Amino acid sequence: MAVINKNYLKLPGNYLFSDIAKKVNMYKEAHPEADIIRLGIGDVTQPIAPAVIEALQAAVYEMGQEKSFRGYAPDLGYDFLRDVIAKEDFAKRGCDITADEIFVSDGAKSDCGNIQEIFGEDNTIAVCDPVYPVYVDSNVMAGRTGTYDESAKRFRDVVYMPCTEANGFAPEVPGENEKAPDLIYLCFPNNPTGAVITKDRLQAWVDYARKHDSVILYDAAYEAYISEENVPHSIYECEGARECAIEFRSFSKTAGFTGLRLGFTVVPKDLTAGGEKLWPLWARRHGTKYNGAPYIIQRAGEAVYTPEGRRQVKEQIAWYMGNAKIILDGLRSAGFEASGGVNAPYIWMKTPKGMGSWEFFDLLLQKANVVGTPGVGFGPGGEHFFRLTAFGNRERTIEAVERIKNL
Ligand code: PLP
Repeated sequence: MAVINKNYLKLPGNYLFSDIAKKVNMYKEAHPEADIIRLGIGDVTQPIAPAVIEALQAAVYEMGQEKSFRGYAPDLGYDFLRDVIAKEDFAKRGCDITADEIFVSDGAKSDCGNIQEIFGEDNTIAVCDPVYPVYVDSNVMAGRTGTYDESAKRFRDVVYMPCTEANGFAPEVPGENEKAPDLIYLCFPNNPTGAVITKDRLQAWVDYARKHDSVILYDAAYEAYISEENVPHSIYECEGARECAIEFRSFSKTAGFTGLRLGFTVVPKDLTAGGEKLWPLWARRHGTKYNGAPYIIQRAGEAVYTPEGRRQVKEQIAWYMGNAKIILDGLRSAGFEASGGVNAPYIWMKTPKGMGSWEFFDLLLQKANVVGTPGVGFGPGGEHFFRLTAFGNRERTIEAVERIKNL
């Protein structure tokens, strides 16, 4: 008799975005005239940059010619892309990462979700609270989290690291008396809080991981949004990170590839867990379960690093960050407490008067016809917070902020 992986039954339903859609639809049915503005959107809206489109078109043409046709891509990615990534994203920032330590993939979500497969079942995991849900859910599926405690809204065997106003929404290194987690998920710039971590604080995490033989799984999907100095773009800017960290990157928010799909993961060759090297394991997993990002998409990714491509994607990011500034300044001038929105496309606002984040969602929908994301949807630490995003249309963003101010 076939049986299922019972760990899947432990997953709490991911109802956040369907609950939001349900509430919005009900409101629309009752108020068909309402002009609803969505600032909850987590997807980019600007079209792909012209330099990238040109590269895509050229690659499509190549695929139609006998001489330049390509079949299966190399497992770990084409050299033309891995070389330019190693040079532009790492060497130029003083990070000692070589092209063969870069594994090209179809995005950071798959890699963040799959990486846990190369680690033993007995590892303990630590995540930020609030958190991008993929890290916990993929470990639930693998049976590493224990059962779900409905009242605490937490898995019993997961270490939730509080990210609060007091610590600038970046977790503190655990105390010496606490048991060190084996796998530590960090994400900066952060979704949902929009917070970043300073280089010194990230170095403290690297030192901690080296001391305790833990591995840091560092998600830098929003690296391109960093605008301030002393904010590390890569964990490999920290001394010793090659010995304790894996890093995930994405072209999704950097260059609008959410629909094209491209990302990469860095696994340094010196990195070990329990004395075993991780690079060969991830290479083996990649070779067995994945056949490479498409040639045309990898060529599109390469174009992001050309002078034209770079300039164009920078302009797009600056445009989104213009929206972020409008939201952040508008909220603050109306007396709301808000953070993020400077090095990330997310604005994390405190709900007024200690309102629950769903209660505030309802208020905003009904009184301002604006839709955002309740913070509690990202973990219990998100209660009393609300996420707004900078990916909307400019005029609608301005209009939404005016409506919130007039609440
Ligand atoms: N990591 C974080 C923190 C994200 O917020 C997202 C997307 O929202 C991803 C990874 C997924 O990236 P990709 O589109 O490359 O799969």
